[in-house]
Amino acid sequence: MPKTKFVDFRAVKSAITMEQVLTHYNLLDTFKRSGDSLSGPCPIHKGSNPTQFRVSISKNVWNCFSECKHGGNTLDFIARMDNVSIHAAALRAVEWFNLDPDAMSADSEQEAGESNGAAHTGDTPRPRPASQSPVLENVPPNKPLKFRLDKLERDHPSIAERGLTPETVAEFEVGFCGKGMMAGRIAIPIRNAEGAVVAYAGRWPGEPAEDTPKYKLPQGFRKSLELFNLDRAIKEPMGHPLIIVEGFFGAMTLYQHGCRKVVALMGSTMSAAQEELIRKNTNAHSQVIVMLDEDDAGRTGREDIAVRLARFVFVKVHVFAEDGRQPEQLNAEEVAQVCGGVQ
Ligand SMILES: [Zn+2]
Repeated sequence: MPKTKFVDFRAVKSAITMEQVLTHYNLLDTFKRSGDSLSGPCPIHKGSNPTQFRVSISKNVWNCFSECKHGGNTLDFIARMDNVSIHAAALRAVEWFNLDPDAMSADSEQEAGESNGAAHTGDTPRPRPASQSPVLENVPPNKPLKFRLDKLERDHPSIAERGLTPETVAEFEVGFCGKGMMAGRIAIPIRNAEGAVVAYAGRWPGEPAEDTPKYKLPQGFRKSLELFNLDRAIKEPMGHPLIIVEGFFGAMTLYQHGCRKVVALMGSTMSAAQEELIRKNTNAHSQVIVMLDEDDAGRTGREDIAVRLARFVFVKVHVFAEDGRQPEQLNAEEVAQVCGGVQ
């Protein structure tokens, strides 16, 4: 294949798998397989820690949580391994895997968009891929509420118990709800990116009985379309890292301790719509710190989230030293250590 030929990076990318690429480099045996992921020492910076480098087999993406602090797709991997451009990596892949060069050649229309891909090496900005999720198209947004829950008890002991100061309680407008749909619960307004309240979440104070859900959300509300605290987080400087936590109280606790650029997923997984919100509100130089709860759900979630976000921002995964820890339990000093050093 002549060097001047344009290749369609997307076609090459989707024609090969990470497993094939690792096999090509004789690396597959150095990785441990677990479910959908492969983990092992990073072959790019040649590290030794057996968990620093992860591959999602089904998504064909990789991430180095150590020195490289980088991740990407099959072509990014070849480019990094061989220290070549994405274009050269694509040409190599065509040759190595016997791909049909004609089927892989780009028409001139696609070439403009793909020039992004060529920049995706080294410290140059990441490409900003449009969302690949067709499910985003047909879901109507959550409508702003036409009412507010008033008479919420802001100084209820169940709120103070969670370590929130009166200032934080007032800022987030949370309060104990005496009657109505959220009766007996701490009501937490959820705002969309524009700051309009689209729902109230109701947190049962303390540990609920087995048949009582910890959280209650209004029927028809799609939490997968929102990121809690996004409206405030996006007012923070672009250069500050964005912290991603699971829950409302984790987000409010970090905010209270000065780490204001924080959003909560309202769960341990990231939806396609949430990914899109993050993509829209970051740039190619942005840093994101994924800080989920230190439990099985959190560990599974953060791996997937890190791999997906690494396609367009710099991602760091926060690992708590002890099992069971969560952001809500961090004191001011610990928050400053996690977020302060980089802000
Ligand atoms: Zn590495």
